[in-house]
Amino acid sequence: MIKEVKAKRILSHSTEPDSWFGIKYNMNLYRGCQHQCIYCDARSECYQIENFNDIEVKVNAIELLQKEIMSKRIKGTIGTGAMSDPYLPLEKKYNLTRQALKVIRDSSFPIHIITKGSLVVRDKDLLKDINRIYAAVSFTVTTTDDDLAKKIEPGAPSPTERLKAMKELSDTGIYTGITMMPILPFIEDSDKNILDIVEKAKAHGASYIIPWFGMTLRDRQKAHFFEKLDKYFPNLKYKYQQKFGNNYQCNANNSRKLWKLFKTKCEEYNISVEITKFDDRQTEQLSFLKP
Ligand code: SF4
Repeated sequence: MIKEVKAKRILSHSTEPDSWFGIKYNMNLYRGCQHQCIYCDARSECYQIENFNDIEVKVNAIELLQKEIMSKRIKGTIGTGAMSDPYLPLEKKYNLTRQALKVIRDSSFPIHIITKGSLVVRDKDLLKDINRIYAAVSFTVTTTDDDLAKKIEPGAPSPTERLKAMKELSDTGIYTGITMMPILPFIEDSDKNILDIVEKAKAHGASYIIPWFGMTLRDRQKAHFFEKLDKYFPNLKYKYQQKFGNNYQCNANNSRKLWKLFKTKCEEYNISVEITKFDDRQTEQLSFLKP
């Protein structure tokens, strides 16, 4: 069900930018997500989204963003894509992400987008403009196998489509890379999968890959994930129960070995395993200007 709602706020902020992406402000234009990844942490009880299949469209988001962005004294990276993908099929109709990017460009704020949506290429003109300050687009790819992705990320464009979109942005000069997370234990934690992702990332213009070898499991997110395991991967639920019990953090099998393999391949291909954040770029530019 799609519901149009009025939000009270659109930018939430943290005192310090996050250590992975340097995000200072978080923006979610939608609540709930049509991509319906079976592992999505946004289903956890702490986020109080009763039915993740219902999508709320924050129809006053742009008006709020215009006001809130003007009141921000610190120019920090606006992040979007953590709780709901900004390039859902719905975005074609509502254009909220595109309109938000216009506001961000006109206010000269930096942006970091996490997405599985190939629709992001529609906005490459705006991203190119924002990139004068800072724009990074991270595509989440957890497998290169389109058939497997259909089971675990059923509503999202296939990994092939995501990689194609990344290539298009990269060819335009936009800073792009991959968030390789989660890596699902027993499903995606093979050497082959990790090496395939790095190889395809290289072929499609990734500047970086941010990895995490494992997943999290808790309360109703875990219940949903186990239900889908029973449907698509018979008997795997028992392996999870045996190995992880009530753990929240569930590491991939051989995660250290996978990390080494991954790092060596990234070094060979000159792909960074960290993102250059907005602040890093500022520092680089300032040191470049010094006599
Ligand atoms: S795209 Fe992201 S927010 Fe949407 S369901 Fe998948 S993991 Fe959750």
